[in-house]
Amino acid sequence: EDARIRQMKKGHELAASTYHSILTLTEEGAPGRVYAQERLFTQDQIEHFRIGYALNDWETLAVIFETNGLDLAVMAESGLLAKRKQGTGYYDLFRERLMFPITDSQGSVVAFGGRAIGEGQPKYLNSPETPIFHKAKTLFHMHEARPSIRKQNKALLVEGAFDVMAAWKAGVTNVVATLGTALSSDHAKLLRRNAEEVILCYDGDRAGREAIRKAIPVLEEAGCKVSICLLPEGLDPDDYVKQHGEEAFVRILDNECLSVMAFRMLDLKQGKNMQNEGDRLQYIEEIVQMLAKLEHSVEQEYYLQQLAESFTLPMDVLRQELSRAERLLK
Ligand code: ATP
Ligand code: MN
Ligand code: MN
Ligand code: MN
Repeated sequence: EDARIRQMKKGHELAASTYHSILTLTEEGAPGRVYAQERLFTQDQIEHFRIGYALNDWETLAVIFETNGLDLAVMAESGLLAKRKQGTGYYDLFRERLMFPITDSQGSVVAFGGRAIGEGQPKYLNSPETPIFHKAKTLFHMHEARPSIRKQNKALLVEGAFDVMAAWKAGVTNVVATLGTALSSDHAKLLRRNAEEVILCYDGDRAGREAIRKAIPVLEEAGCKVSICLLPEGLDPDDYVKQHGEEAFVRILDNECLSVMAFRMLDLKQGKNMQNEGDRLQYIEEIVQMLAKLEHSVEQEYYLQQLAESFTLPMDVLRQELSRAERLLK
């Protein structure tokens, strides 16, 4: 069992070096370099993330594993090869993709993400669940970001690997991502073990906002202090850095994060027409319900004040509403 795991990790290390060398040193790697250039990758990023390229070839890894005396059946079980349906032997699962290694908590490469260059489908191919890779327990870039996360007592959580790479390029090194899965309680515990605060910076689209709604309680359950950085509609962190620059990205992270309550107050406006009286009343009612669940009266008072100001309502009326909502909760 242990020898099998060791072999899988050895094979992954070999694969990471192979993909990286292909991208950086070979003529055949040119399409990967063209794509990396299109995505504005710097040399620093290519080295730090050990970005590589999988050729449009069926047995690059299969041959290398064979030459290095690795058991191809074991490497198939680790998600890098698949068994041929006809005939014998194994073929590479990742082909014609920009590759990024995914590490475990010790820094060993245990999986890969592969981005199709151009319009290939699927856009992203990630390693499957294997004995060495568990998606619900792994955060991309956690091993590399850990010192920075600990030092700042804060982690930035984004959706995709390219978002991690963009943030890192902007000097935001305490950044990690889930890997095409929802944030799990294990992810949240892993974050909490390394920092008190988590900033959520998901894509500025419907799916991103829905993912924020779902991630908040999971993070709070694990004891994280959560804040939210909302991006303009249609932009993810990678797009944002590209469009507005690295300084602007750092600036919104430093200055424009929302508390969970502020996010919810904004979020509850979605789909409502604030010019419409019924919608407006419903909104106020929903906010009051939410405030009733807060533990700290300073916080309650603070947001109640905001509500009073935005709708020019007397504070004592809102306080009465709040008390009523609190009584109903008990
Ligand atoms: P890009 O900028 O390269 O177009 P992205 O990271 O912005 O990609 P999204 O479509 O926003 O991609 O998806 C967010 C994340 O969800 C991706 O980084 C990836 O981890 C995962 N994902 C997206 N599409 C797929 C897919 N077809 N299969 C598996 N995972 C996917
Ligand atoms: Mn998205
Ligand atoms: Mn995205
Ligand atoms: Mn993107």
